[in-house]
Amino acid sequence: MMKVVKFGGSSLADARQFAKAGEIIRADETRMYVVPSAPGKRFSGDTKVTDLLYTCYNRAAAGESWQDPFRDICSRYNEIIKGLGLDYSLQEEFDLIEKNLREAPAKDYIASRGEYLNGRIMAAYLGYEFIDAAEVIFFDETGSLNERKTKKVMGERLKNTPRAVIPGFYGQDCSGEVKTFSRGGSDITGSIVAGACHASVYENWTDVSGFLVADPRIVKDPAAIKTITYKELRELSYMGAGVLHEDAIFPVRHEGIPINIRNTNRPDDDGTWIVESTCQKSGYVITGIAGKKDFCAVLISKDMMNSEIGFGRKVLQAFEENNISFEHMPSGIDTMTIVVHETEFIDKEQRVVSAIHRLADPDAIEIESDLALIAVVGRGMKAQRGTAGRIFSALAHAHVNVRMIDQGSSELNIIIGVENRDFEAAIRAIYAIFVETQL
Ligand code: ASP
Repeated sequence: MMKVVKFGGSSLADARQFAKAGEIIRADETRMYVVPSAPGKRFSGDTKVTDLLYTCYNRAAAGESWQDPFRDICSRYNEIIKGLGLDYSLQEEFDLIEKNLREAPAKDYIASRGEYLNGRIMAAYLGYEFIDAAEVIFFDETGSLNERKTKKVMGERLKNTPRAVIPGFYGQDCSGEVKTFSRGGSDITGSIVAGACHASVYENWTDVSGFLVADPRIVKDPAAIKTITYKELRELSYMGAGVLHEDAIFPVRHEGIPINIRNTNRPDDDGTWIVESTCQKSGYVITGIAGKKDFCAVLISKDMMNSEIGFGRKVLQAFEENNISFEHMPSGIDTMTIVVHETEFIDKEQRVVSAIHRLADPDAIEIESDLALIAVVGRGMKAQRGTAGRIFSALAHAHVNVRMIDQGSSELNIIIGVENRDFEAAIRAIYAIFVETQL
């Protein structure tokens, strides 16, 4: 039994939170590898260390003064060290970062120091070895994770290191420079470490007790999700359910390692289990609801479209030529709809429209905006009759007009398009029919 534990920024925001994390790690001797984030917000309105680091970089790159935010960063770490009662100093590390800011500021290097410094403190606090992520995580020429090399180098290194702290969020690019993942990327590091050492569990400690069936900003006190499959989670996080970085499931997915989302402030809660497959029924027909606003639907119609070979390809080529990825593509016999993100599309819309005309020669093109998409996700939907019926009657009762429906053949989710202004009402109506009435 071997566990990899990742602690998010709010779990390591100050000495008190740090101590809670330490207690959790020490309570279970199989928690052998620790992946820390940078210190996050201590209270609402506070600034994350990573954001302070980006501010330092931006100012240094613009030739402005960065000393104030840098001083704030140093004092946050010094307070943690002092609060933990450690006889430890990061002064040499601070000097190196300062030198970089002064001489040749490098964005990813600076941003990564939040995790690096926190990792140093964590290793000193636990008495674990420190492994610099830049020595064990590699990116390729395209900027993507070099999985093979990472797995090999990290696997070897961990084999010889029974207990270690590996900071999250960064690795090394192919020219040897530090490179970060996208924001929230420490989740990915935790997953890579878990995959490389074949952990039995990847515990991801954060400030909520797992995933909720719906967004608590929209639904009051939503139910918690006990178990969710990777696939369901992918659908939900893609549609905006936060908690875990959407790419964090890939490194553990093929190893069959479950992810357990846990709450540092409520360590006795079970949290949510993210698994490959399960025979555990979810408490409700649906597992979760998530959604996003601000999509556009491009409606393309042409008589006899259904018999014209290559029509769809030509339409999609117009989007590809303009470097726009499409989200959904529901179609009728003589119509085809391409759903895109409004922000990605808005500046290029006329170019796309003329490209569709040039390439596919349709009869008409219409663009509709202010579309919100809601994904109703659940492995249980396949086995249950009438799920779609219940969703649509709930929406009709809530006076929500459904503008689009898209159900993948996996029957894992149903995507519903509604007006932006109906978004919250639609989510509440769907939640109520499946969870509150719980038939
Ligand atoms: N500290 C980084 C961020 O704020 C990465 C992380 O926390 O996962 O995005």
